[in-house]
Amino acid sequence: MKLTVLGCSGTFGAPDCACSGYLVQAGGASVLLDAGPGTLAELQRHMRIEDLDALLISHSHPDHWVEAPVMRNALRYVLQSEGLPVYSTSETLGLITEISHDRVEPTFELSEIADGAEVSVGPLRIRCSRTDHPPGDARVLPRRR
Ligand SMILES: [Zn+2]
Repeated sequence: MKLTVLGCSGTFGAPDCACSGYLVQAGGASVLLDAGPGTLAELQRHMRIEDLDALLISHSHPDHWVEAPVMRNALRYVLQSEGLPVYSTSETLGLITEISHDRVEPTFELSEIADGAEVSVGPLRIRCSRTDHPPGDARVLPRRR
């Protein structure tokens, strides 16, 4: 498994450091964990956006997801790509949907995660668990099968 830190700044980006975004790759599968501000530009240093196999967003704080609607626009209007699986909490999926004017599908295929959820993408199995980080969100632990 290869982990590429696209950004790890909390709350807001820093010069040369985007907010949270982690590219996890294994066995030909590529998953973006979190899509904070600045991560989409960093992702393109490593791969094409349309080649992602899934996007998983840990929780609803903006420094972890606000690139998702931007990614949706890129995939829909520029790259003409559909069907990217997007996993997150119900609150976060609602925010992404709202800011995208209810037009996330068919570009994104939304799936809700909650405590105990497991997501499989290629050889990666991602386990989600609730933490005490407000507002009642989940975190993700990628593992290779
Ligand atoms: Zn947070």
